[in-house]
Amino acid sequence: MDGYTKSTEMGELRTICVYCGSSPGHDPGYVAAARQFGRILAKNGIGLVYGGGSGGIMGALAEAVCESGGRVVGVIPEFLRQQERLFEGANEIIITRDMHDRKRIMFERADAFVAMPGGIGTLEELVEQLTWAQLGHHRKPILLADINGYWAALIDLFARMHAAGFIHSGAKFKYSVCSAVEDILPTLQAEVARVSEREKAGEPALVERM
Ligand code: AMP
Repeated sequence: MDGYTKSTEMGELRTICVYCGSSPGHDPGYVAAARQFGRILAKNGIGLVYGGGSGGIMGALAEAVCESGGRVVGVIPEFLRQQERLFEGANEIIITRDMHDRKRIMFERADAFVAMPGGIGTLEELVEQLTWAQLGHHRKPILLADINGYWAALIDLFARMHAAGFIHSGAKFKYSVCSAVEDILPTLQAEVARVSEREKAGEPALVERM
């Protein structure tokens, strides 16, 4: 089957990629939100793809999905296997050669992206997806899980970039914000239904070159 076979079908939400901290953060609300989202994913039959670690928000999320009978795919580069303590409980573990392969596989496996609280790695992955979407490479929805206002400063910065004339492609530079965990899935489902499977995933030739 080629990448165009499903071109007329509306987008589906089967797997969500979550970017989040390898640390737990100081606010217990972050871990609690991750666990709540993990349970929601499992209950709704939506798979999780994530960075494969067992610590911090990442570990809490993956554990909650597994405990609730959901599907977890962990994608981790060989050199981080020890450092980020690979989560052995995942249904599928993909060991990659490097960071680039990790990010490409996480992109390919996901129908949408959620950023939960996290650090520099989380920010980098989120911004990369926003960049790819802005360049028109895909239309997979991107959502900021703004737990206890965690992303407020970043959202302000995006608004400032827009006002200052550095973000022009308003239609393509698009993300949603949910402060309540229970709103995340319905928001993504509504967004995914607005694009075709082909638009969402991007042109195979373009995606190949990202
Ligand atoms: P952090 O938010 O810094 O705790 O990192 C969360 C996850 O992002 C970890 O699995 C990191 O390995 C990953 N990460 C760190 N740096 C990068 C990067 N440059 N690109 C992609 N992922 C990264």
